[in-house]
Amino acid sequence: MSMLEDSKKHLNNAFKYTKVDEETWEILQYPERTIQVTIPMRHDDGTLKTYKAFRCQYSSLLGPYKGGIRYSSTVSRDEVEALAFLMTFKNSCISVPFGSSKGAIVVDPTSLTHRENERLSKLYIDAFADFIGPDKDIPAPDMATNERTMGWMYHEYQLIKGGHPRGVVTGKPVAIGGIPGRISATGYGGYFVLEKLLSSKYKSYIKIKEKAFNEITVAIQGFGNVGFHFAKKCNKKGLKVVAITDKIDGIYDVNGIDIDACKMARDAGQDWPVGQKITNKELFELDVDILVPAAIENAITIENVEKIRAPLILELANGPTTLDASKYLEQNGKIIVPDILCNAGGVCVSFFEWNQNRKFDKWTFKQVDSELRKKMHKATKSVIDISSNLNIPIRTAAYVLALNRIGEAQECHGNRDFFKQ
Ligand code: NAD
Repeated sequence: MSMLEDSKKHLNNAFKYTKVDEETWEILQYPERTIQVTIPMRHDDGTLKTYKAFRCQYSSLLGPYKGGIRYSSTVSRDEVEALAFLMTFKNSCISVPFGSSKGAIVVDPTSLTHRENERLSKLYIDAFADFIGPDKDIPAPDMATNERTMGWMYHEYQLIKGGHPRGVVTGKPVAIGGIPGRISATGYGGYFVLEKLLSSKYKSYIKIKEKAFNEITVAIQGFGNVGFHFAKKCNKKGLKVVAITDKIDGIYDVNGIDIDACKMARDAGQDWPVGQKITNKELFELDVDILVPAAIENAITIENVEKIRAPLILELANGPTTLDASKYLEQNGKIIVPDILCNAGGVCVSFFEWNQNRKFDKWTFKQVDSELRKKMHKATKSVIDISSNLNIPIRTAAYVLALNRIGEAQECHGNRDFFKQ
């Protein structure tokens, strides 16, 4: 089953607990539009190649479309639509005034020179300039794109449209209207979700044995942007990160891992500095309190789910648990905090950036961190309260929260009467 089908099933499970009507439900089954283009690009050596590119604009019910752009040789229209679908509920769950979208170029980013990367990024904007804009659709970085890409894209859009439309992309460099703390936002946001769950009000809900804060153990799959920043914040706050893996392998140290030393070593292409070597498979089987898939989709499947011992799973990656694995975990009393809540910190800080750009304002990192914390805490509280009031899994509760907000907006549009004529 694809990630989109899995996500739609999660939505199905939530539907019966919402006030959403059948018509809104039907509207949410499909993207409003997916635009596909072919981009011809001349390479540095003079040859011309064509690249397929997409922008899926899934829902505009809550505001301008919003979603990242990824570069990948394997990305497909289905994947882009699945990710845009997830954005619909993520943006609603975290309560930012955005609809949802996602974009992609089918390209192996490692095959491009720096200049080719810049050229292709700008050509993407040439192709989509009329479909995006600060009030229409706001791209951001995703896999293999970063703040440099956003700087190029902003500049190209500005050349085409004129003026200073800074809010057209988020995740820009600070020098041209970006916001401090955007890069760490998803990892830190995930930590703030956890922090709320570990507060005295919700501690009993998450089924972690009564332990001192510095005895709570964490294992993380993925040591990229999200995994690293999440690990760093956990470490800083005193939680014990005992295992980390990346695409190749990982380490385990019962006494806790030095996150910065690992980062330096891996960035330099070196081996893990200390600890016992483990594989990705072994990471999922560890006897830890919190397991954090922060790398790829479908990391937890029916093949490895039975071995999972952690009582609490935080989905920092997008779609890391398949539907059947998710059901198995829930039936076995595990708590899964879903991606649409856990990794919403990135889009949350993107909203701060967009807001800042519209007012030609400048936020400090302290302001960003404090507002992010408030927003993640508030969303976590709302989700857990729904989960405990309705006695439903946390994932279902997150979709209920998101669906109700979307349903309310749809109702205000007045379509129901139109359809009933
Ligand atoms: P990244 O490319 O910076 O890092 C990915 C990490 O996962 C790397 O350490 C890599 O070695 C590891 N990895 C890759 N394939 C693996 C495999 N098969 N097994 C184990 N580890 C593997 O990516 P990121 O930005 O940290 O994103 C991670 C996840 O979080 C993705 O699912 C992404 O969609 C999601 N996400 C990211 C953001 C963001 O702001 N970066 C926001 C929301 C969701």
